[in-house]
Amino acid sequence: MSISFKPLFELLITEKMTSDPELLDYLPQNTRIGLQKADQKWTALKQGDIPIPQVIKPKKKPLETIDWDVVISGGTLGILLATALQQRGWKVAIIERGKLRGRDQEWNISRSELEVFCELDLLSEGELESAIATQYNPGRVSFYEGQEIWVENVLNIGVDPVFLLETLKQKFLAANGQLLEETAFQNATIHSNGVEIQTDNQTLTTRLLIDAMGNFSPIAAQARNGEKPEGVCLVVGSCAEGYPENKTGDLIASFTPIENQCQYFWEAFPARDGRTTYLFTYLDAHPDRFSLEFFMAEYLRLLPQYQGVNLSELDFKRFLFGFFPSYRQSPLRVPWNRLLPVGDSSGAQSPVSFGGFGSMVRHLKRLTVGIEAALKTDSLSREDLALLQPYQPNISVTWLFQRTMSVECDRAVPPNQINDLMNGVFAVMEDLGDEVLKPFLQDVIQFGPLAKTLPRVDPKLVLPILPQVGIPLLLDWLKHYLSLGIYSGLYPVGKGLDAIASTLPSKQQYYYHRWLEAWKYGAGYDYK
Ligand SMILES: Cc1cc2nc3c(=O)[nH]c(=O)nc-3n(C[C@H](O)[C@H](O)[C@H](O)COP(=O)(O)OP(=O)(O)OC[C@H]3O[C@@H](n4cnc5c(N)ncnc54)[C@H](O)[C@@H]3O)c2cc1C
Repeated sequence: MSISFKPLFELLITEKMTSDPELLDYLPQNTRIGLQKADQKWTALKQGDIPIPQVIKPKKKPLETIDWDVVISGGTLGILLATALQQRGWKVAIIERGKLRGRDQEWNISRSELEVFCELDLLSEGELESAIATQYNPGRVSFYEGQEIWVENVLNIGVDPVFLLETLKQKFLAANGQLLEETAFQNATIHSNGVEIQTDNQTLTTRLLIDAMGNFSPIAAQARNGEKPEGVCLVVGSCAEGYPENKTGDLIASFTPIENQCQYFWEAFPARDGRTTYLFTYLDAHPDRFSLEFFMAEYLRLLPQYQGVNLSELDFKRFLFGFFPSYRQSPLRVPWNRLLPVGDSSGAQSPVSFGGFGSMVRHLKRLTVGIEAALKTDSLSREDLALLQPYQPNISVTWLFQRTMSVECDRAVPPNQINDLMNGVFAVMEDLGDEVLKPFLQDVIQFGPLAKTLPRVDPKLVLPILPQVGIPLLLDWLKHYLSLGIYSGLYPVGKGLDAIASTLPSKQQYYYHRWLEAWKYGAGYDYK
Protein backbone atom coordinates (compact mmCIF):
# COMPACT_ATOMS: atom_id res chain seq x y z
CA MET A 1 0.00 0.00 0.00
CA SER A 2 2.64 2.50 1.07
CA ILE A 3 4.54 1.99 -2.25
CA SER A 4 1.58 3.11 -4.33
CA PHE A 5 1.24 6.25 -2.20
CA LYS A 6 4.93 7.14 -2.43
CA PRO A 7 4.74 9.65 -5.31
CA LEU A 8 1.92 11.49 -3.60
CA PHE A 9 3.85 11.43 -0.33
CA GLU A 10 6.91 12.96 -2.04
CA LEU A 11 4.67 15.59 -3.54
CA LEU A 12 3.32 16.40 -0.10
CA ILE A 13 6.81 16.66 1.37
CA THR A 14 7.93 19.15 -1.30
CA GLU A 15 4.69 21.05 -0.97
CA LYS A 16 4.95 21.42 2.72
CA MET A 17 7.70 24.07 3.06
CA THR A 18 5.41 26.81 1.81
CA SER A 19 5.51 28.99 4.88
CA ASP A 20 7.54 32.16 4.76
CA PRO A 21 10.41 31.92 7.29
CA GLU A 22 10.58 35.72 7.38
CA LEU A 23 7.35 35.66 9.35
CA LEU A 24 9.45 34.44 12.27
CA ASP A 25 10.95 37.94 12.44
CA TYR A 26 7.87 38.81 14.52
CA LEU A 27 9.37 36.74 17.35
CA PRO A 28 11.75 38.44 19.76
CA GLN A 29 15.28 37.06 19.70
CA ASN A 30 15.07 35.17 23.02
CA THR A 31 11.74 33.56 22.01
CA ARG A 32 13.35 32.50 18.73
CA ILE A 33 16.18 30.84 20.68
CA GLY A 34 13.65 29.09 22.96
CA LEU A 35 11.76 27.86 19.91
CA GLN A 36 14.97 26.51 18.36
CA LYS A 37 15.82 24.69 21.59
CA ALA A 38 12.36 23.13 21.68
CA ASP A 39 12.88 22.15 18.03
CA GLN A 40 16.13 20.38 18.91
CA LYS A 41 14.20 18.24 21.41
CA TRP A 42 11.42 17.61 18.88
CA THR A 43 13.97 16.62 16.20
CA ALA A 44 15.71 14.22 18.59
CA LEU A 45 12.36 12.65 19.46
CA LYS A 46 11.40 12.24 15.78
CA GLN A 47 14.74 10.59 15.06
CA GLY A 48 14.34 8.22 17.98
CA ASP A 49 17.37 9.76 19.67
CA ILE A 50 15.82 9.41 23.12
CA PRO A 51 18.29 9.34 26.01
CA ILE A 52 17.62 6.90 28.84
CA PRO A 53 18.98 8.55 31.97
CA GLN A 54 19.89 6.27 34.87
CA VAL A 55 18.67 8.43 37.74
CA ILE A 56 16.88 5.84 39.89
CA LYS A 57 18.49 2.81 41.40
CA PRO A 58 17.17 0.47 44.08
CA LYS A 59 19.19 -0.68 47.13
CA LYS A 60 18.14 -3.27 49.70
CA LYS A 61 19.84 -1.70 52.72
CA PRO A 62 17.50 0.47 54.84
CA LEU A 63 18.20 4.15 55.49
CA GLU A 64 19.23 5.05 59.03
CA THR A 65 17.26 8.29 59.23
CA ILE A 66 14.43 9.67 57.15
CA ASP A 67 13.82 13.42 57.27
CA TRP A 68 10.74 13.93 55.12
CA ASP A 69 7.40 12.23 54.55
CA VAL A 70 7.24 13.49 50.99
CA VAL A 71 9.73 15.17 48.65
CA ILE A 72 8.25 16.58 45.45
CA SER A 73 10.63 17.18 42.59
CA GLY A 74 9.26 19.92 40.29
CA GLY A 75 7.32 22.85 41.68
CA THR A 76 4.94 24.01 38.93
CA LEU A 77 2.05 21.64 39.60
CA GLY A 78 3.98 20.06 42.49
CA ILE A 79 3.12 23.04 44.72
CA LEU A 80 -0.61 22.21 44.53
CA LEU A 81 -0.09 18.81 46.08
CA ALA A 82 2.74 19.96 48.36
CA THR A 83 0.59 22.63 50.00
CA ALA A 84 -2.39 20.30 50.41
CA LEU A 85 -0.21 17.64 52.09
CA GLN A 86 1.80 20.06 54.23
CA GLN A 87 -1.39 21.68 55.50
CA ARG A 88 -2.62 18.23 56.54
CA GLY A 89 0.39 17.84 58.79
CA TRP A 90 2.84 15.90 56.59
CA LYS A 91 6.46 17.00 56.33
CA VAL A 92 6.94 18.03 52.72
CA ALA A 93 9.91 19.44 50.77
CA ILE A 94 9.90 20.70 47.17
CA ILE A 95 12.95 20.63 44.92
CA GLU A 96 12.66 23.11 42.07
CA ARG A 97 15.50 23.65 39.63
CA GLY A 98 14.45 27.26 38.88
CA LYS A 99 12.39 29.78 40.80
CA LEU A 100 8.94 28.56 41.76
CA ARG A 101 6.94 31.03 39.72
CA GLY A 102 3.92 30.64 37.46
CA ARG A 103 4.13 31.53 33.78
CA ASP A 104 2.51 34.76 32.51
CA GLN A 105 0.07 32.97 30.24
CA GLU A 106 -3.28 31.97 31.80
CA TRP A 107 -4.38 28.34 32.20
CA ASN A 108 -7.87 27.74 30.91
CA ILE A 109 -10.29 25.65 32.91
CA SER A 110 -14.03 25.48 33.74
CA ARG A 111 -15.37 27.25 36.85
CA SER A 112 -16.78 24.21 38.67
CA GLU A 113 -13.40 22.46 38.54
CA LEU A 114 -11.81 25.21 40.64
CA GLU A 115 -14.02 24.55 43.69
CA VAL A 116 -11.51 21.98 44.91
CA PHE A 117 -9.09 24.75 45.92
CA CYS A 118 -11.60 26.00 48.52
CA GLU A 119 -12.68 22.47 49.46
CA LEU A 120 -9.08 21.58 50.32
CA ASP A 121 -8.54 24.94 52.08
CA LEU A 122 -5.84 25.88 49.61
CA LEU A 123 -7.54 29.15 48.69
CA SER A 124 -10.24 31.26 50.31
CA GLU A 125 -13.23 32.27 48.15
CA GLY A 126 -11.63 35.72 47.79
CA GLU A 127 -8.25 34.30 46.75
CA LEU A 128 -9.93 32.06 44.21
CA GLU A 129 -11.70 35.05 42.66
CA SER A 130 -8.34 36.91 42.54
CA ALA A 131 -6.73 33.90 40.83
CA ILE A 132 -9.30 34.19 38.02
CA ALA A 133 -7.74 36.60 35.55
CA THR A 134 -10.34 36.33 32.78
CA GLN A 135 -13.76 34.90 31.98
CA TYR A 136 -15.50 34.77 28.68
CA ASN A 137 -18.66 33.37 27.11
CA PRO A 138 -19.73 31.77 24.85
CA GLY A 139 -17.24 29.37 23.29
CA ARG A 140 -17.46 28.17 19.69
CA VAL A 141 -16.85 24.78 18.11
CA SER A 142 -16.51 25.13 14.36
CA PHE A 143 -14.99 23.07 11.55
CA TYR A 144 -14.36 23.91 7.91
CA GLU A 145 -17.56 23.89 5.83
CA GLY A 146 -19.71 23.00 8.84
CA GLN A 147 -22.15 24.57 11.29
CA GLU A 148 -21.03 26.57 14.30
CA ILE A 149 -21.89 25.26 17.77
CA TRP A 150 -21.87 27.63 20.75
CA VAL A 151 -21.53 26.53 24.39
CA GLU A 152 -21.48 28.40 27.69
CA ASN A 153 -19.12 27.95 30.66
CA VAL A 154 -16.74 25.42 29.14
CA LEU A 155 -13.00 26.07 29.67
CA ASN A 156 -13.88 29.78 29.76
CA ILE A 157 -11.94 30.75 32.90
CA GLY A 158 -8.34 31.95 32.65
CA VAL A 159 -6.43 31.26 35.87
CA ASP A 160 -3.42 33.46 36.57
CA PRO A 161 -0.54 31.02 37.23
CA VAL A 162 1.67 33.72 38.78
CA PHE A 163 -0.93 34.60 41.43
CA LEU A 164 -1.98 31.00 42.04
CA LEU A 165 1.52 29.62 42.50
CA GLU A 166 2.71 32.57 44.61
CA THR A 167 -0.33 32.28 46.92
CA LEU A 168 0.18 28.54 47.33
CA LYS A 169 3.91 29.00 47.83
CA GLN A 170 3.28 31.45 50.71
CA LYS A 171 0.77 29.03 52.29
CA PHE A 172 3.19 26.15 51.91
CA LEU A 173 5.96 28.14 53.61
CA ALA A 174 3.59 29.40 56.33
CA ALA A 175 2.70 25.78 57.12
CA ASN A 176 6.47 25.05 57.51
CA GLY A 177 6.99 23.38 54.17
CA GLN A 178 10.55 23.44 52.84
CA LEU A 179 11.07 24.94 49.40
CA LEU A 180 14.46 24.41 47.77
CA GLU A 181 14.57 26.69 44.74
CA GLU A 182 17.39 26.63 42.20
CA THR A 183 18.06 23.09 43.32
CA ALA A 184 17.97 20.43 40.64
CA PHE A 185 17.11 16.76 41.15
CA GLN A 186 20.09 14.61 40.07
CA ASN A 187 19.29 11.04 41.10
CA ALA A 188 17.70 8.92 43.83
CA THR A 189 18.35 5.60 45.52
CA ILE A 190 15.31 3.66 46.64
CA HIS A 191 15.94 1.81 49.89
CA SER A 192 13.58 -0.60 51.63
CA ASN A 193 12.29 2.07 54.03
CA GLY A 194 12.80 5.33 52.13
CA VAL A 195 14.42 7.25 49.28
CA GLU A 196 17.71 9.11 49.29
CA ILE A 197 17.72 11.98 46.82
CA GLN A 198 20.79 13.75 45.46
CA THR A 199 20.31 17.29 44.23
CA ASP A 200 23.09 19.42 42.80
CA ASN A 201 23.86 20.75 46.27
CA GLN A 202 22.43 18.47 48.96
CA THR A 203 21.01 15.09 49.98
CA LEU A 204 17.44 14.54 51.20
CA THR A 205 15.79 11.44 52.61
CA THR A 206 12.07 10.79 52.36
CA ARG A 207 9.42 8.08 52.66
CA LEU A 208 7.89 8.98 49.30
CA LEU A 209 9.31 10.75 46.22
CA ILE A 210 6.82 12.45 43.91
CA ASP A 211 8.00 13.18 40.36
CA ALA A 212 6.38 16.42 39.11
CA MET A 213 9.11 17.30 36.60
CA GLY A 214 6.81 17.42 33.60
CA ASN A 215 6.88 15.75 30.20
CA PHE A 216 10.66 15.64 30.09
CA SER A 217 11.23 14.29 33.58
CA PRO A 218 14.42 12.19 33.75
CA ILE A 219 12.60 9.71 36.01
CA ALA A 220 9.79 9.26 33.48
CA ALA A 221 12.39 8.98 30.69
CA GLN A 222 14.14 6.16 32.55
CA ALA A 223 10.83 4.38 33.18
CA ARG A 224 9.80 4.75 29.50
CA ASN A 225 13.17 3.22 28.53
CA GLY A 226 13.62 5.04 25.22
CA GLU A 227 10.07 4.39 24.02
CA LYS A 228 8.94 6.72 21.24
CA PRO A 229 5.57 8.42 21.86
CA GLU A 230 2.77 7.14 19.62
CA GLY A 231 1.23 10.57 19.36
CA VAL A 232 2.29 14.18 19.73
CA CYS A 233 0.27 17.38 20.00
CA LEU A 234 2.19 20.38 18.64
CA VAL A 235 1.06 23.81 19.82
CA VAL A 236 2.15 27.31 18.81
CA GLY A 237 0.46 30.63 19.47
CA SER A 238 0.59 34.06 20.96
CA CYS A 239 -1.12 36.59 23.16
CA ALA A 240 -1.52 39.96 21.47
CA GLU A 241 -3.44 43.24 21.50
CA GLY A 242 -4.94 44.92 18.46
CA TYR A 243 -7.64 42.43 17.45
CA PRO A 244 -11.15 43.66 16.66
CA GLU A 245 -13.32 43.60 19.83
CA ASN A 246 -14.43 40.00 20.44
CA LYS A 247 -15.70 38.70 23.78
CA THR A 248 -16.18 35.14 22.57
CA GLY A 249 -13.73 32.29 22.26
CA ASP A 250 -13.07 29.23 20.13
CA LEU A 251 -12.73 25.92 21.96
CA ILE A 252 -11.71 24.21 18.75
CA ALA A 253 -11.99 25.51 15.21
CA SER A 254 -10.64 24.75 11.76
CA PHE A 255 -10.94 26.67 8.51
CA THR A 256 -8.60 24.77 6.20
CA PRO A 257 -8.55 21.22 4.81
CA ILE A 258 -5.69 18.83 5.59
CA GLU A 259 -2.36 20.50 4.77
CA ASN A 260 1.17 19.17 5.20
CA GLN A 261 -0.28 15.78 6.18
CA CYS A 262 -2.09 17.16 9.20
CA GLN A 263 -5.23 18.99 10.18
CA TYR A 264 -4.71 22.46 11.66
CA PHE A 265 -6.94 23.26 14.64
CA TRP A 266 -7.28 26.63 16.33
CA GLU A 267 -8.21 27.92 19.73
CA ALA A 268 -8.81 31.58 20.69
CA PHE A 269 -10.05 33.45 23.74
CA PRO A 270 -9.92 36.83 25.44
CA ALA A 271 -6.95 37.10 27.82
CA ARG A 272 -5.80 39.69 30.33
CA ASP A 273 -3.14 40.98 27.96
CA GLY A 274 -5.28 40.94 24.84
CA ARG A 275 -6.35 37.83 22.96
CA THR A 276 -4.71 34.40 23.00
CA THR A 277 -4.73 32.30 19.85
CA TYR A 278 -3.27 28.82 19.42
CA LEU A 279 -2.68 26.64 16.40
CA PHE A 280 -2.40 22.94 17.27
CA THR A 281 -2.28 19.62 15.51
CA TYR A 282 -1.99 15.89 16.22
CA LEU A 283 0.84 13.93 14.65
CA ASP A 284 2.99 10.88 15.01
CA ALA A 285 6.72 11.43 15.61
CA HIS A 286 7.75 10.44 12.06
CA PRO A 287 11.20 11.86 11.16
CA ASP A 288 9.73 13.78 8.19
CA ARG A 289 7.30 15.81 10.31
CA PHE A 290 7.82 19.55 10.17
CA SER A 291 9.58 21.64 12.81
CA LEU A 292 8.02 23.89 15.43
CA GLU A 293 9.59 26.85 13.62
CA PHE A 294 7.78 25.89 10.45
CA PHE A 295 4.54 25.47 12.42
CA MET A 296 5.01 28.91 14.02
CA ALA A 297 5.46 30.42 10.56
CA GLU A 298 2.27 28.64 9.46
CA TYR A 299 0.49 30.13 12.47
CA LEU A 300 1.59 33.63 11.48
CA ARG A 301 0.65 33.00 7.85
CA LEU A 302 -2.88 31.92 8.72
CA LEU A 303 -3.62 34.10 11.77
CA PRO A 304 -4.83 37.10 9.69
CA GLN A 305 -7.35 34.87 7.91
CA TYR A 306 -8.44 33.27 11.19
CA GLN A 307 -8.97 36.46 13.19
CA GLY A 308 -9.62 39.00 10.42
CA VAL A 309 -6.64 41.19 11.27
CA ASN A 310 -3.30 42.16 9.70
CA LEU A 311 -0.18 41.07 11.56
CA SER A 312 1.07 44.67 11.43
CA GLU A 313 -1.94 45.75 13.51
CA LEU A 314 -1.02 43.37 16.35
CA ASP A 315 1.08 44.16 19.38
CA PHE A 316 2.43 40.75 20.38
CA LYS A 317 2.82 40.39 24.15
CA ARG A 318 4.27 36.91 24.01
CA PHE A 319 4.60 33.85 21.80
CA LEU A 320 3.85 30.37 23.12
CA PHE A 321 4.82 26.93 21.93
CA GLY A 322 5.20 23.40 23.14
CA PHE A 323 4.82 19.78 22.18
CA PHE A 324 3.10 17.13 24.20
CA PRO A 325 4.16 13.52 23.68
CA SER A 326 1.52 10.93 24.49
CA TYR A 327 1.91 7.20 25.00
CA ARG A 328 -0.71 4.52 24.69
CA GLN A 329 0.78 2.89 27.80
CA SER A 330 -0.58 5.56 30.11
CA PRO A 331 -0.62 6.46 32.93
CA LEU A 332 3.04 5.66 33.32
CA ARG A 333 3.77 2.54 35.39
CA VAL A 334 7.08 3.00 37.22
CA PRO A 335 8.94 -0.15 38.26
CA TRP A 336 10.04 1.24 41.64
CA ASN A 337 8.61 1.41 45.14
CA ARG A 338 8.11 4.74 46.94
CA LEU A 339 7.89 6.74 43.72
CA LEU A 340 4.78 8.38 42.26
CA PRO A 341 4.62 10.49 39.08
CA VAL A 342 2.03 13.31 39.01
CA GLY A 343 1.19 16.06 36.50
CA ASP A 344 2.54 15.81 32.96
CA SER A 345 5.24 13.27 33.90
CA SER A 346 2.52 10.75 34.82
CA GLY A 347 0.95 10.78 31.35
CA ALA A 348 -2.45 10.69 33.10
CA GLN A 349 -3.95 13.51 31.05
CA SER A 350 -5.96 13.13 27.86
CA PRO A 351 -3.93 12.76 24.65
CA VAL A 352 -6.34 15.06 22.81
CA SER A 353 -5.90 18.14 24.96
CA PHE A 354 -2.98 20.09 26.31
CA GLY A 355 -4.83 20.67 29.57
CA GLY A 356 -2.38 19.24 32.11
CA PHE A 357 -3.26 21.89 34.69
CA GLY A 358 -6.96 21.06 34.36
CA SER A 359 -6.22 17.36 34.67
CA MET A 360 -4.18 17.89 37.85
CA VAL A 361 -6.93 20.04 39.38
CA ARG A 362 -9.55 17.42 38.57
CA HIS A 363 -7.53 14.79 40.42
CA LEU A 364 -6.16 16.99 43.20
CA LYS A 365 -8.55 15.88 45.94
CA ARG A 366 -8.28 12.23 44.95
CA LEU A 367 -4.49 12.42 44.95
CA THR A 368 -4.28 14.33 48.25
CA VAL A 369 -6.57 11.94 50.08
CA GLY A 370 -4.97 8.91 48.44
CA ILE A 371 -1.36 9.93 49.18
CA GLU A 372 -2.32 10.68 52.76
CA ALA A 373 -3.89 7.22 53.09
CA ALA A 374 -0.81 5.62 51.52
CA LEU A 375 1.44 7.36 54.04
CA LYS A 376 -0.81 6.46 56.98
CA THR A 377 -1.05 2.79 56.05
CA ASP A 378 2.50 2.57 54.73
CA SER A 379 1.14 1.51 51.34
CA LEU A 380 4.19 2.69 49.41
CA SER A 381 5.09 -0.28 47.27
CA ARG A 382 5.04 0.00 43.48
CA GLU A 383 1.70 -1.85 43.34
CA ASP A 384 0.12 0.24 46.11
CA LEU A 385 1.14 3.51 44.49
CA ALA A 386 0.03 2.40 41.02
CA LEU A 387 -3.51 2.52 42.41
CA LEU A 388 -3.08 6.29 42.77
CA GLN A 389 -2.54 6.68 39.03
CA PRO A 390 -4.94 3.98 37.89
CA TYR A 391 -5.94 2.88 34.41
CA GLN A 392 -8.75 5.17 33.25
CA PRO A 393 -10.75 3.76 30.36
CA ASN A 394 -12.36 7.13 29.71
CA ILE A 395 -8.92 8.57 28.93
CA SER A 396 -7.75 5.49 27.03
CA VAL A 397 -10.72 5.66 24.64
CA THR A 398 -9.57 9.11 23.55
CA TRP A 399 -6.58 7.50 21.83
CA LEU A 400 -8.80 6.62 18.93
CA PHE A 401 -10.05 10.20 18.73
CA GLN A 402 -6.48 11.45 18.55
CA ARG A 403 -5.74 8.99 15.75
CA THR A 404 -8.85 10.00 13.79
CA MET A 405 -7.72 13.63 13.92
CA SER A 406 -4.26 12.85 12.53
CA VAL A 407 -2.96 11.61 9.18
CA GLU A 408 -0.04 9.24 8.66
CA CYS A 409 2.91 10.66 6.75
CA ASP A 410 2.55 8.32 3.79
CA ARG A 411 -1.23 8.02 3.50
CA ALA A 412 -3.30 9.83 0.94
CA VAL A 413 -6.60 10.93 2.43
CA PRO A 414 -9.38 13.15 1.11
CA PRO A 415 -8.52 16.72 2.15
CA ASN A 416 -11.71 17.24 4.11
CA GLN A 417 -11.90 13.84 5.81
CA ILE A 418 -11.18 15.08 9.32
CA ASN A 419 -13.38 18.16 9.05
CA ASP A 420 -16.26 16.07 7.71
CA LEU A 421 -15.93 13.60 10.57
CA MET A 422 -15.71 16.34 13.20
CA ASN A 423 -18.73 18.13 11.72
CA GLY A 424 -20.68 14.86 11.75
CA VAL A 425 -19.76 13.89 15.32
CA PHE A 426 -20.33 17.33 16.82
CA ALA A 427 -23.68 17.71 15.04
CA VAL A 428 -24.84 14.48 16.73
CA MET A 429 -23.53 15.61 20.11
CA GLU A 430 -25.21 18.99 19.80
CA ASP A 431 -28.44 17.25 18.95
CA LEU A 432 -28.13 15.07 22.05
CA GLY A 433 -27.73 18.14 24.24
CA ASP A 434 -25.38 19.71 26.76
CA GLU A 435 -25.07 16.63 28.95
CA VAL A 436 -23.33 14.90 26.02
CA LEU A 437 -21.45 17.84 24.51
CA LYS A 438 -20.09 19.62 27.59
CA PRO A 439 -18.31 16.75 29.38
CA PHE A 440 -16.75 15.73 26.06
CA LEU A 441 -15.35 19.23 25.55
CA GLN A 442 -13.92 19.10 29.08
CA ASP A 443 -12.06 15.83 28.47
CA VAL A 444 -14.54 13.75 30.46
CA ILE A 445 -15.76 10.88 28.37
CA GLN A 446 -18.71 8.94 29.79
CA PHE A 447 -20.12 5.64 28.62
CA GLY A 448 -23.78 6.71 28.28
CA PRO A 449 -23.16 9.80 26.14
CA LEU A 450 -20.60 7.94 24.02
CA ALA A 451 -22.94 5.00 23.50
CA LYS A 452 -25.68 7.39 22.42
CA THR A 453 -23.40 9.32 20.05
CA LEU A 454 -21.54 6.58 18.17
CA PRO A 455 -24.50 4.77 16.55
CA ARG A 456 -25.84 8.07 15.25
CA VAL A 457 -22.66 9.10 13.44
CA ASP A 458 -23.02 8.62 9.68
CA PRO A 459 -21.07 5.42 8.73
CA LYS A 460 -20.02 7.18 5.49
CA LEU A 461 -17.88 9.45 7.68
CA VAL A 462 -16.48 6.67 9.85
CA LEU A 463 -15.64 3.96 7.29
CA PRO A 464 -12.97 5.96 5.38
CA ILE A 465 -10.93 6.42 8.57
CA LEU A 466 -10.78 2.72 9.41
CA PRO A 467 -7.75 1.89 7.20
CA GLN A 468 -5.86 4.73 8.83
CA VAL A 469 -6.81 3.67 12.35
CA GLY A 470 -6.07 0.01 11.68
CA ILE A 471 -7.61 -3.15 13.16
CA PRO A 472 -5.25 -3.49 16.17
CA LEU A 473 -6.03 0.00 17.43
CA LEU A 474 -9.71 -0.49 16.79
CA LEU A 475 -9.71 -3.73 18.84
CA ASP A 476 -7.71 -2.03 21.54
CA TRP A 477 -10.25 0.78 21.55
CA LEU A 478 -13.13 -1.71 21.85
CA LYS A 479 -11.43 -3.13 24.93
CA HIS A 480 -11.30 0.33 26.54
CA TYR A 481 -14.87 1.08 25.48
CA LEU A 482 -16.06 -2.13 27.14
CA SER A 483 -14.01 -1.32 30.24
CA LEU A 484 -15.66 2.09 30.31
CA GLY A 485 -19.03 0.33 30.39
CA ILE A 486 -17.86 -2.06 33.10
CA TYR A 487 -16.39 0.74 35.24
CA SER A 488 -19.66 2.68 34.88
CA GLY A 489 -21.50 -0.34 36.28
CA LEU A 490 -18.96 -1.18 38.98
CA TYR A 491 -18.85 2.24 40.63
CA PRO A 492 -22.45 2.32 41.93
CA VAL A 493 -22.10 -1.30 43.13
CA GLY A 494 -18.78 -0.58 44.87
CA LYS A 495 -20.15 2.58 46.44
CA GLY A 496 -22.95 0.52 47.96
CA LEU A 497 -20.33 -1.39 49.97
CA ASP A 498 -19.12 1.75 51.80
CA ALA A 499 -20.57 0.70 55.18
CA ILE A 500 -19.01 -2.79 55.03
CA ALA A 501 -15.67 -1.36 53.85
CA SER A 502 -15.47 0.97 56.85
CA THR A 503 -15.17 -2.10 59.11
CA LEU A 504 -12.13 -3.46 57.22
CA PRO A 505 -8.53 -3.13 58.46
CA SER A 506 -6.96 0.16 57.33
CA LYS A 507 -4.77 -1.37 54.61
CA GLN A 508 -7.79 -3.06 53.02
CA GLN A 509 -9.69 0.20 53.23
CA TYR A 510 -6.82 1.78 51.29
CA TYR A 511 -7.34 -0.72 48.46
CA TYR A 512 -11.14 -0.40 48.56
CA HIS A 513 -11.07 3.38 48.25
CA ARG A 514 -8.46 3.37 45.50
CA TRP A 515 -10.46 0.89 43.43
CA LEU A 516 -13.65 2.86 44.01
CA GLU A 517 -11.95 6.04 42.85
CA ALA A 518 -10.47 4.26 39.84
CA TRP A 519 -14.01 3.22 38.80
CA LYS A 520 -15.45 6.66 39.54
CA TYR A 521 -12.83 8.67 37.65
CA GLY A 522 -12.31 6.01 35.00
CA ALA A 523 -16.03 6.19 34.18
CA GLY A 524 -16.12 10.01 34.23
CA TYR A 525 -18.44 10.14 37.27
CA ASP A 526 -16.27 12.91 38.74
CA TYR A 527 -17.75 15.34 36.20
CA LYS A 528 -19.65 18.14 37.91
C1 LIG B 1 1.19 26.81 25.06
C2 LIG B 1 0.61 26.04 26.20
C3 LIG B 1 -0.68 26.30 26.64
C4 LIG B 1 -1.26 25.57 27.68
N1 LIG B 1 -2.53 25.87 28.09
C5 LIG B 1 -3.10 25.15 29.08
C6 LIG B 1 -4.43 25.46 29.52
O1 LIG B 1 -5.06 26.42 29.04
N2 LIG B 1 -4.99 24.69 30.50
C7 LIG B 1 -4.31 23.64 31.07
O2 LIG B 1 -4.88 22.95 31.91
N3 LIG B 1 -3.05 23.35 30.68
C8 LIG B 1 -2.43 24.08 29.72
N4 LIG B 1 -1.16 23.79 29.32
C9 LIG B 1 -0.49 22.63 29.92
C10 LIG B 1 0.13 22.98 31.25
O3 LIG B 1 0.92 24.13 31.17
C11 LIG B 1 0.97 21.78 31.72
O4 LIG B 1 0.15 20.64 31.72
C12 LIG B 1 1.52 22.00 33.09
O5 LIG B 1 2.43 23.08 33.10
C13 LIG B 1 2.25 20.74 33.57
O6 LIG B 1 2.83 21.00 34.79
P1 LIG B 1 3.93 20.03 35.39
O7 LIG B 1 4.29 20.64 36.70
O8 LIG B 1 3.46 18.63 35.37
O9 LIG B 1 5.12 20.11 34.36
P2 LIG B 1 5.95 21.39 33.93
O10 LIG B 1 5.07 22.56 33.67
O11 LIG B 1 6.82 20.93 32.82
O12 LIG B 1 6.82 21.74 35.19
C14 LIG B 1 7.85 20.89 35.61
C15 LIG B 1 8.53 21.56 36.77
O13 LIG B 1 9.62 20.72 37.17
C16 LIG B 1 10.80 21.50 37.26
N5 LIG B 1 11.93 20.60 36.98
C17 LIG B 1 12.20 19.97 35.80
N6 LIG B 1 13.33 19.25 35.93
C18 LIG B 1 13.74 19.39 37.21
C19 LIG B 1 14.85 18.87 37.95
N7 LIG B 1 15.76 18.08 37.40
N8 LIG B 1 14.95 19.22 39.26
C20 LIG B 1 14.04 20.03 39.86
N9 LIG B 1 12.99 20.56 39.18
C21 LIG B 1 12.84 20.24 37.88
C22 LIG B 1 10.63 22.61 36.23
O14 LIG B 1 11.44 23.72 36.52
C23 LIG B 1 9.14 22.92 36.40
O15 LIG B 1 8.87 23.81 37.44
C24 LIG B 1 -0.53 24.54 28.30
C25 LIG B 1 0.78 24.28 27.89
C26 LIG B 1 1.35 25.03 26.86
C27 LIG B 1 2.76 24.74 26.43
